[in-house]
Amino acid sequence: MATRVKAFSAATRSTPLAAATIERRDIQPRDVQFDVLFCGVCHSDISTARSIWPDVMYPCVPGHEIVGRVTKVGSDVKGFKPGDFAAAGCMVDSCRTCVSCKLGLEQYCDTAPPNGMILTYNGPDKYFPGKPTYGGYSSQIMVDEHFCLHVDGKQNLAAVAPLLCAGITLYSPLKHWGAGQGKKVGIVGLGGLGHMGVKLSHALGAHTVLFTTSPGKVEDGKRLGADEVVVSRNADEMAKQANRLDLIVDTVAVPHDLDPFIAALNRDSALVLVGAPGTPHPSPGVFPLLMRRRHIAGSGIGGIKETQEMLDFCAAHNIVSDIEITPIQKINEAHDRVLKSDVRYRFVIDMASLNA
Ligand code: NAP
Ligand code: ZN
Repeated sequence: MATRVKAFSAATRSTPLAAATIERRDIQPRDVQFDVLFCGVCHSDISTARSIWPDVMYPCVPGHEIVGRVTKVGSDVKGFKPGDFAAAGCMVDSCRTCVSCKLGLEQYCDTAPPNGMILTYNGPDKYFPGKPTYGGYSSQIMVDEHFCLHVDGKQNLAAVAPLLCAGITLYSPLKHWGAGQGKKVGIVGLGGLGHMGVKLSHALGAHTVLFTTSPGKVEDGKRLGADEVVVSRNADEMAKQANRLDLIVDTVAVPHDLDPFIAALNRDSALVLVGAPGTPHPSPGVFPLLMRRRHIAGSGIGGIKETQEMLDFCAAHNIVSDIEITPIQKINEAHDRVLKSDVRYRFVIDMASLNA
């Protein structure tokens, strides 16, 4: 048995998203069922729906920046009750028994799917074998309590939604690599992830340097919390950053030359890649890495405990995303605009529009 709910899905890689109905499992003892109120639009939604990334299963219902209101809870659920606000991010399950899961790093679960980490969409759905999981571009979602986050509703809920992916994807590496007072931190790209990176790095007390390809974003960068804004296509401006930064987090979604950013790193510092292009970056030069013992690293979202910590940090520091609300009917236009960097700085779908 299953319930049919409304959604927007892509039938193939080249088909625009359109209204559809999908099946959601019947409630399990540890499940929280909630109505989706708002869902952020991540660049990953587009990379998946359009198969810019490999191995996409169709139909594809994207959406992993989800805020909603609880409608029903399973018999074993302790932390949520009907009427509460609840949120979900990029993953809805993991084995919970491996070393990584026990450390609260469910996103790096050591067990292979379908028993390991399951993405909110385009993961193997263990309740509907052979089908993908479906994300937040839908009226309702069912999530194991362990993967449900608490939001208190005091902040603008639509603007909270992007914290569930964009927020945690920047918070986690900033914390892991020690961003804070006395540190100089670079953020590359002022998009959905990047603008959260600037806000969070600033709130953590780091001297924050934004690198943007868009001269028109310089003032916004400063307003959002950057101490310096560098137009990365300007070689003279880049040269002034040489050997200076203690950490750089790169959010750019297309392949690009990493060498100018590596040159900006201090000794023993890391360039952390979170942007996920469908094809690789050109290989960086080796000498700039070994001469100053610099690192290139990657980072994926964040664990559940850390995601809650990030939500609480954002509530305490009055941080939300800068958003543009869209009805679901304009989602294809919104996706096209994200690809052109034409949004300041995150689209959020008002899911009430699904019933319009
Ligand atoms: P986004 O809103 O499109 O932002 C990307 C930014 O990259 C743009 O705003 C732009 O900033 C810069 N950019 C765009 N085209 C560029 C170009 N040709 N050359 C240089 N810079 C360019 O995307 P997003 O939602 O923030 O996502 C960013 C990437 O992170 C995507 O690949 C997404 O899939 C990935 N992601 C990864 C994780 C993870 O766990 N690691 C989680 C979520 C998303 P400027 O105009 O300032 O240059
Ligand atoms: Zn995302």
